[in-house]
Amino acid sequence: MTIRPEALAETEHHPFAGGTVDLLGAAHAVTGAMTRVELGANSILVDCGVAQGDEARRWRFPDRALDVDAVILTHGHNDHVGSLPVLLDRGYNGHIYGTRSTLDLADIVIRDGLHLQGASKREQDNFSRRLRELAHPVRYDKETWHARGPIRFTLHEAGHILGSSSVDLCNDKNRVIVSGDLGRPNSPILRDPNRIWTQTMPVDVAVVESTYGDKNHAQGHDDIEVTLERIIHQALRDGGHILVPAFAIGRTQLLIYHLNTLIESRRIPDIAVAIDTPMGLRVTELYSQARHLYDRDAIAKLEAGDDPLNFERLFAVNKQTESVQLRDAIEPMLIIAGSGMCTGGRIVGHLQELLPRPETCVVFIGYQAAGTPGNQIQHARKGDSIWLGGQNVRLAATIETISGLSAHADRNELADWICALPETRRIALHHGEPQAQHAFSNWLNTQG
Ligand SMILES: [Zn+2]
Repeated sequence: MTIRPEALAETEHHPFAGGTVDLLGAAHAVTGAMTRVELGANSILVDCGVAQGDEARRWRFPDRALDVDAVILTHGHNDHVGSLPVLLDRGYNGHIYGTRSTLDLADIVIRDGLHLQGASKREQDNFSRRLRELAHPVRYDKETWHARGPIRFTLHEAGHILGSSSVDLCNDKNRVIVSGDLGRPNSPILRDPNRIWTQTMPVDVAVVESTYGDKNHAQGHDDIEVTLERIIHQALRDGGHILVPAFAIGRTQLLIYHLNTLIESRRIPDIAVAIDTPMGLRVTELYSQARHLYDRDAIAKLEAGDDPLNFERLFAVNKQTESVQLRDAIEPMLIIAGSGMCTGGRIVGHLQELLPRPETCVVFIGYQAAGTPGNQIQHARKGDSIWLGGQNVRLAATIETISGLSAHADRNELADWICALPETRRIALHHGEPQAQHAFSNWLNTQG
């Protein structure tokens, strides 16, 4: 596909003959994804996310999300599903579509969010019951007609997390594609983002994520294992623990996959690895159950008798009391704990205790949004104080970042995905910070 300069847009409102696309969230930010698509007399909400970090302070639930005919979820991350409880509380009663895995993940993620907000188990159960009543699981690559009406859509693999999808929506006259969050091609475990589209109808608007629109990941998948290998050998020499703040969904499973590869090939010793995140444990279980969604390499490992998401010294930490005890273990271990941006969860206690110890190594494996403690730690120098969980913590630990483990496509990978689209009249960038969107838009124009 050739991209014409006037086809690239960084605004929130995208009208076309026969409909509109409105970015109700994540228009110039990386969280709070919510896109309203009007096709003829029908309207669909794609994603119903919640803003995080700095964005959360100025974000309000948009009224225009309420009067829609259906909701389609691209994937189960909180910034794409976290506002569903508000939508349901305010009277939404229609279908909620997504892949089976996305709907399962949405339930886990939202229950966790409600728990953190102080909701009782009964309130969480009520939400799960309502979600089950409205949920309509959809298979990949199978066209679905909404309520036998004029709107139909197909979900395609987005390669971002388990069950993640791009949405191809149309009626008889118009067509809109929403990328959802796009993963990196050749990532372990999941299949690559879809590149095969029906060509029968041009696309009026393609809404495309742009998280890494301004950069290419420095590391490929092989480099990730080399870096991980170096960090683990160094940490074992230093005799400290390795702390990995990790999102429970996707990043945790990718890290387990790489650790399994390194251990199975004896490139690192058989180090103890703690999955110290109850949500991470539940999600890893979902990944283990959804082997039909694995890519060829992961299936080949299974067929050879190696479970890519399990190894001898990988262990689950269910209780908070057991989590606290990990810090005092004499033998160095790798601790995977949430939350991914250090805004809460068990990682905060570990960091308070272990950041001041010079033998500790903290490894960031995911994007750290501006304003989050994770972002502060990532950019701090030794000796700096960091405000963390209500106290000042002095940094003496080593800080490392593995960027290639990102679940998001980089600039070139996004451009490749865009080039594979059918004829497209307008591209609406969303899910990116303004400088990333602007740089991506300019770069695409220079590439023609
Ligand atoms: Zn996501």
